[in-house]
Amino acid sequence: MTKLEMLYEGKAKKVYKTEVEDRYIVAYKDDATAFNGVKKGTIAEKGVVNNKMSALLFKLLEEKGIPTHFEKLLSDREMLVKAVKILPLEVIIRNVVAGSLAKRLGLEEGAVLKNTVLEFCYKNDELGDPMVNEDHILAVGLSTEDQLQTVRKYALKINEILCPFFLERGLKLIDFKLEFGIHEGKVILADEISPDTCRLWDAATNKKMDKDRFRRDLGDVEETYQEVLARL
Ligand code: UDP
Repeated sequence: MTKLEMLYEGKAKKVYKTEVEDRYIVAYKDDATAFNGVKKGTIAEKGVVNNKMSALLFKLLEEKGIPTHFEKLLSDREMLVKAVKILPLEVIIRNVVAGSLAKRLGLEEGAVLKNTVLEFCYKNDELGDPMVNEDHILAVGLSTEDQLQTVRKYALKINEILCPFFLERGLKLIDFKLEFGIHEGKVILADEISPDTCRLWDAATNKKMDKDRFRRDLGDVEETYQEVLARL
């Protein structure tokens, strides 16, 4: 497979057409942004970590029955994926209070949630990805009812698979963000699963092992990304 025309360049990835109509190549960059693009920087070798980690987790999820866009790793920074039309939704799953939830509800980071929380945001940079509920999603047609129920079911099952997987490797999955796309009329998992999109805390010490080290200038950013990949 070869990279042809670049279709899209996002904050952390580039997407290319290939000679096959419904296959794209995703190339992971070292660029890092936070707070809707206000903070910018680079994290050396992040692209390699996020590419390899996403590949490993997509493979695991496929084995457990979740359809994903992942086809195969092509190089350190590139993977071949199924072409999808991305649903304009960020699906956030929370096991422990952190980040914007702590702020919104005035809770301590690390507080236990009595149940898993699933949130949706409308993927729209200009609006700052506002939170929406299922009525909003259906009222403005961000997805169909069927797609929405499938997204919910997959997101919760992914959480059930990933929590024990990370815990066996000394990491607590605090919260994470997923994106889904439509391929051949079906909902499949797309985008990435990486320290950019998950909060992971060391199971023994609660050390933050994710993008919060960059967002909050906690230091050891590169080393932490490498450590997460090594543990997997
Ligand atoms: N997240 C993400 N992209 C976004 C917003 C959030 O990957 O545009 C992830 C984030 O890394 C965390 C989870 O979703 O694992 C929940 O994020 P939160 O709503 O707390 O927002 P944050 O405080 O990270 O902006």
